[in-house]
Amino acid sequence: MTDYFEVHERDSAARLGELRLAESVTTPALVDDVDADTPGACHRVLDDAGSDWATEREVPAGDESRITVLPHRGFPAGTPEEVADAFAVDYPDVDVPSAAVVSPDTAAGHSCDVSVLAGAPGYVGHASAFVDAVTAVREATPADTALYLPGVATPRNVATLVYAGVDLVDPHRAVVRGTEGRYLTTDEAYFLEDLDELPCSCPACQTPREDFDREDCVEHNVNALAAELRRVRRRIRDGRLRDYVEGQARQDNWLTATFRRLDQQYGYLEERTPLIRRADLSAASEDSLRRVEIQRFAELVTDRYVPRFDDRPLVLVPCSARKPYSDSQSHKQYHDAIKWRAHVVSMTSPIGVVPQELELTYPAQHYDSVVTGRWTANEIEFVSRVLERYLEDAEYPEIIAHVPGEGYRDICERVADSLGREFTFTVTDHPTTADSLGNLAAELEGWDRYPKREREHNTIRAVADYQFGAGAGDELFDDLSTAGRYPQLRAEDGDGTQLATLAQQYGVLSLTTAGARRWVESDVPTKAVDIEPFVPHGSVLAPGITDASDDIRVGDDVVVRGDAAFGVGRAEMSGPEMRSSTRGIAVQMRHVEER
Ligand SMILES: [Zn+2]
Repeated sequence: MTDYFEVHERDSAARLGELRLAESVTTPALVDDVDADTPGACHRVLDDAGSDWATEREVPAGDESRITVLPHRGFPAGTPEEVADAFAVDYPDVDVPSAAVVSPDTAAGHSCDVSVLAGAPGYVGHASAFVDAVTAVREATPADTALYLPGVATPRNVATLVYAGVDLVDPHRAVVRGTEGRYLTTDEAYFLEDLDELPCSCPACQTPREDFDREDCVEHNVNALAAELRRVRRRIRDGRLRDYVEGQARQDNWLTATFRRLDQQYGYLEERTPLIRRADLSAASEDSLRRVEIQRFAELVTDRYVPRFDDRPLVLVPCSARKPYSDSQSHKQYHDAIKWRAHVVSMTSPIGVVPQELELTYPAQHYDSVVTGRWTANEIEFVSRVLERYLEDAEYPEIIAHVPGEGYRDICERVADSLGREFTFTVTDHPTTADSLGNLAAELEGWDRYPKREREHNTIRAVADYQFGAGAGDELFDDLSTAGRYPQLRAEDGDGTQLATLAQQYGVLSLTTAGARRWVESDVPTKAVDIEPFVPHGSVLAPGITDASDDIRVGDDVVVRGDAAFGVGRAEMSGPEMRSSTRGIAVQMRHVEER
């Protein structure tokens, strides 16, 4: 039971939370001992009962102004599991804000608000040990337990620490470095005597350079750390910490290694990454190819998506900077040549391939990449793999590649070779020249255009497969009729009962209760949240939940059911987080019916 920590926003493993003390503290935060005299902006809220190694300690009474660190036995990084187990402390249940000192092996089983990673400095600097330790502790404890790494934060590493899943840090390392004459910034650790001028304008750095001493340096270091945390919190609120960390991790090799190692913990990050975000995704480096959002989209397109237009030719076209693609000048020109006679799939780095029905989904409509006109070997490799997997199960009678030379054509030739299929290339020089567009139109001669109804139905069904699971398009929307004008489509059944609407901003379906009932009655596994017998209005809080499907992610449409109510809403937590949390909003309800 964690009563004093609540998570409000999630951005992959990073989260914005709140220590609900007498004075609330927004995390990720800089915390220190209650009686510390460190200069700068710290929350002095930690009260350490001390180590149990020398003498048996009393559990202090504690109070709501502070986090009582229960008597502990810390172990350095790398302590063998048997040793840590043999000496592990049994933490008592207390009803004041409390913290337990843990190792990766002993992290489970306490009910404190905060886990303190013992021997944290021993992990920092070693990418794999650090990532293994942080992910192990986070996975062993309830989602609403804060993670504190003492003695490690600097202005340079703190964004990466938070990205990995750390909620609390302290100023100790920044202080020690200052007393050693190291002036810390987000990109460097300068020797103070090497600085002709101070690259900062915090209060400490207002001191004239000739009077600036190590005491000022300590104060500056703490200010710089606090400022970086403010930036990190802003990034989490905006859902854009990853973009920042991709750049910031470059400032130090161990941070780059840590960040890449973390990307290899796909399951850990995937479970914690929202399905949709308000913010655009900036794909500025090769590291972007490994982002959960990119990998997840490629997986959904190749595993769940069913090509329903594959009784007609396929036209592969290059992506456009403007999103959705169909709004761009170039895609309008392709469309004028194609005239709904073929299925259009856009090729793009870093997303892979985007079938026309999914152009509104996240992140197809929400990414921004650096266009150099040249593809790297990794980009070619990635997009080739996705295109090949996409085509493996499709039965298009003809594949037309209306793509420019650089990169795109290499990929098409590679995939054509590998699948033993023939591609027709229609571009001479550039895809939008009159010649190229003429070739494209000529290639489609003899094919009829498919009706608008077919287009709209296939869009609803494709989004349903992508969003709810393989088969959902046919099972939930078998007797389908559509109303409204694309992209604002409504899906209705044969009797005119509304089942869902297509939300233009994210290209996902918002189900009605009638739509949700069809999901429950279908063979497609339902993402369901089981609740106590009450009728939720507005939102469902975590304590009211008795069970939740494993595969629910933030942003998912979920069925909410209990003895007193049936409804549908949008998940604000992952399924595992709903089950383990004792605080916080789990689902925002959209429709609810009393039973
Ligand atoms: Zn400063």
